Amino acid sequence: MPNRGALFTFLHRIRWFNLAVLTITPAIGLHGLRSTPLRSYTLAWAAMYYVISMLGYHRLWSHRSYNASRPLQYLLVLMGASAVQGSVYWWARGHRSHHRYTDTPLDPYNAKRGLLYSHIGWMLIKPSVKPGTADISDLKKNEVVQWQHRWYFVIIIVVGYALPAIVAGIIWGDWWGGFYYAGMWRITFVHHSVFSINSLAHYLGETPFDDKKSARDHFVSALLTMGEGYHNFHHQFPMDYRNAVKWYQFDPTKWFIAGCAALRIASHLRVFPQNEVNKAELAMKLKKLRVVQDNIQWPAQAEDLPVVSWESFRKEAQERPLLVVSGFIHDVGDFLDQHPGGRSLIRSHTSKDATAAFCGGVYEHSNAAHNLLSMMRVGVLHGGVEHVDGIAPGERLKIVDKNRSRRRQQAGTY
Ligand SMILES: [Zn+2]
Ligand SMILES: [Zn+2]
Repeated sequence: MPNRGALFTFLHRIRWFNLAVLTITPAIGLHGLRSTPLRSYTLAWAAMYYVISMLGYHRLWSHRSYNASRPLQYLLVLMGASAVQGSVYWWARGHRSHHRYTDTPLDPYNAKRGLLYSHIGWMLIKPSVKPGTADISDLKKNEVVQWQHRWYFVIIIVVGYALPAIVAGIIWGDWWGGFYYAGMWRITFVHHSVFSINSLAHYLGETPFDDKKSARDHFVSALLTMGEGYHNFHHQFPMDYRNAVKWYQFDPTKWFIAGCAALRIASHLRVFPQNEVNKAELAMKLKKLRVVQDNIQWPAQAEDLPVVSWESFRKEAQERPLLVVSGFIHDVGDFLDQHPGGRSLIRSHTSKDATAAFCGGVYEHSNAAHNLLSMMRVGVLHGGVEHVDGIAPGERLKIVDKNRSRRRQQAGTY
């Protein structure tokens, strides 16, 4: 009975507890939608509590991106627990594995396995390969983290389920509304927002700092995750307390941390050197420009052209309109009628060295003219090499792939 065996193995791999939490919570919420009207105070409370739940775990516990005072540490583990997605100890360990082994089978939310898997699949099915190891010695030693881990189930009942109802019930008498909307619906939204950091933030958007891994920056994922959606930056500079580095980007978690620092309950906010951030950004911009550059035709280089004596040049110039500028021989045959200065002017300089005339003697040509002329190169004048200025204006800032040059040198082709 192989099918029965396979079914048994599959059922055995399902994380039933997670499945129950992730389905029963919205199911109860749906019941609330039908049975309890949503009041404006309750909606405001649910939204506020949503923000509180989103701020607790990531940047301090996973990345030590700042130092938090003891009261703030307690506040953060309670705020984070209200999101009902595991203790700090469990969550931060998985997240550190994710950073260390991004996009590999050892990454617990491996984005290479698809959007659905990285969003929720990893929560519902036990992986065939255990997540890669991560150093969590600091979390083992941290009393606040250990306290939260020990009492996690009690804490989530209080801050995840009871508190939302108690606040709404005591202050404006909406016990059930508080339970359904600030409780169940808020938890459902928090779950999928946080899951989006693993799924959407590895799928949607740009890679302004590096494209080696799948992490991406996008405003929509930042909006959903209280600023965690600038994930490309975050994967490059994980210990930085910011995810958004531009002033106009949406990063409430960064603002919250900066606010805590202003209140002196947080300190030592870690910031990666701006020089390195700029370097990463420039490298990606150059990479994009390199694609543009590769789609442009460039002039032949001196080493790729035949070296021609003055006598041969003069002889050849009787057959076709050739002229010398800056040590290069150019065939201007196709250009005679297009020359803005007229055909006769250019004709009067063929079979001669027209460098002085071209570079100011008759007319100081534009960079575009220099670039265009360089495309007409057919040879290098022997003895004129010392005058060769092989770099046309358009290629003075040309991007050179140092790796490619080195490989060509090693292969003897350069
Ligand atoms: Zn990530
Ligand atoms: Zn992270």
